[in-house]
Amino acid sequence: MLTDRHRRELQDLRISVTDRCNLRCTYCMPLDQYDWLAREQILSFEEICRLVRIFARLGSSKLRITGGEPLLRNGLPELVGMLARIDEIEDICLTTNGLLLSDSAVDLRRAGLHRVTISLDSLNPDTFLRMAQRGRLDSVLAGVAAAKAAGLGPIKINTVVERGVNDREISQLLDYSRKEGFEIRFIEYMDVGNVNDWTARKLVTKTEILSRISESHPFEPVTSERGSAPAVRYRFKDGSGGFGVIASVSEPFCGDCTRARLTADGRMVTCLFSPRGHDLKAMLRTSATDRELSEAIASVWVGRTDRYSEERLVAISSKEGYRPEAVRKLEMISLGG
Ligand code: SAM
Ligand code: SF4
Ligand code: SF4
Repeated sequence: MLTDRHRRELQDLRISVTDRCNLRCTYCMPLDQYDWLAREQILSFEEICRLVRIFARLGSSKLRITGGEPLLRNGLPELVGMLARIDEIEDICLTTNGLLLSDSAVDLRRAGLHRVTISLDSLNPDTFLRMAQRGRLDSVLAGVAAAKAAGLGPIKINTVVERGVNDREISQLLDYSRKEGFEIRFIEYMDVGNVNDWTARKLVTKTEILSRISESHPFEPVTSERGSAPAVRYRFKDGSGGFGVIASVSEPFCGDCTRARLTADGRMVTCLFSPRGHDLKAMLRTSATDRELSEAIASVWVGRTDRYSEERLVAISSKEGYRPEAVRKLEMISLGG
């Protein structure tokens, strides 16, 4: 078992397979142009699998494939198949915006993918376009239906709540998820990266989200232990399912953070708000042994002290206040959420 300086175990690995995206969500990557990675900078499937084997031996038996938009990576089912054949891996999940999912859900399931989390911020085509700037809501909903039909469940829906944009749609999204049998997780808008122009004004906190839900959907907390999942979970009092809230800003959970991240260009990152990562690709491509890679990964994890969201909460309540632009951070499209 590998633990860091705050006694957090390494348990999960999030793998970003591309930094490209077919949407331009205003809260994540609003820019048309960006300094995208060149093809040769991106890890091959073999390189990813080699690192996953090493991470798995160190304790990360749960994988989440993400991006950018992971379905833009050519041959993704092939990668899933390679990952599924690694003995130590217990769970493989994909986070996607769903746009291309209807074409690949069956292949992904056959290859060994267990579950999908689909990002869906609105059921209103105009709000969808306002937030995503590209793409069509219809295509996402077709992707959701294809994932359900392919058995990629339990399906989770991720909804970033932004004040004045989609915060009046919480109840509608809850009804939709309840009817479909999905677990929806409302996510507080985070100041991840530097290009999304985050301000506290756009943030709808967990307290406010719960207060809005209680007006139409009576619920109670699920009291079982939260473990390392970031969502705090609730169930409807009538027994018809539940929902989660990810309160990264107002109630940080750094103490439970057991996730390592691998960027598409092979950097190991231990916090969503890191300014940089640790370059494993350079080691992979200069014939480092598995043992050397394993020692490098272990030393990054063991030396880890990050607790950005807890520190931000202190700064928000301080006299000086919090200035997100003062800190340089990696963008969400290279980290994968
Ligand atoms: N493109 C895929 C998608 O959208 O599902 C995977 C990558 S995306 C970066 C992963 C998750 O990060 C998504 O659920 C997205 O909603 C979330 N996300 C992106 N920017 C965010 C922000 N500023 N605050 C909170 N969540 C954010
Ligand atoms: Fe939106 Fe995901 Fe693309 Fe970010 S990576 S712009 S959240 S679809
Ligand atoms: Fe983990 Fe960093 Fe988020 Fe805290 S702020 S929960 S350390 S990723």
